[in-house]
Amino acid sequence: MTTLFVSDLHIEVDRPDIANQFLQFLETEALNADALYILGDLFEFWVGDDDPNEHYAWIKQGLRKLTKKNIPVFFMHGNRDFMIGQDFADETGITILTDPYIVEVHGENVLLSHGDIYCTDDIQYQAVRKMTRDPKWQATMLTRSLEERISFSEQARADSKAHGDNIDQAITDVNQAAIKSALRQANVTLMLHGHTHRPAVHEIEVDGKQARRIVLGDWYEHGSVVRWDRNGPVLSSLAR
Ligand code: MN
Repeated sequence: MTTLFVSDLHIEVDRPDIANQFLQFLETEALNADALYILGDLFEFWVGDDDPNEHYAWIKQGLRKLTKKNIPVFFMHGNRDFMIGQDFADETGITILTDPYIVEVHGENVLLSHGDIYCTDDIQYQAVRKMTRDPKWQATMLTRSLEERISFSEQARADSKAHGDNIDQAITDVNQAAIKSALRQANVTLMLHGHTHRPAVHEIEVDGKQARRIVLGDWYEHGSVVRWDRNGPVLSSLAR
């Protein structure tokens, strides 16, 4: 049996092709899986579980169908959909995981993360992250109208794009020391994350031990998935 991992789909109203590919993935490959892990940024933005946008109803239904067939779906917040809450989890039957999270897959422990916590060179980003992940900040945000929240999120995305365009690519990537420290602390030799949209398998050495960091890609042009059966994890592209 295969355990599946995806991240960074960035589903939004303007990209029905991504939503359709994901729904198809849920109805085919995921139906035969042991479990599906979504490691953040399933949505381009999420302003609260009370958003009645019908486009999201299809995605919720797709997830619900899978969990109803007893295929567990685990979700970790990304930096775009960190406002996904317990109502969404109850509606879809998914389980929300903390970031990072250690899980055993086919006898091997792996550290799962969205990945942005390891982008420690980006000081400005980390400050925004700290603010927006504060439960008090989120509770205050949820008291504002949907329109206000949507316009806040549009502004935040524009700011984030401008910030990303203005700094070196190395700064927005993960920090190697932060990665090694996380692997050491978790006492594992494998990490799986997304966020950077730079799909790759990196071999690294931590305290003399060989370790690996697998980075999932985004779904902008095609899908990206890690399929993990008893032969180990394999990073692949999904043709669209
Ligand atoms: Mn991200």
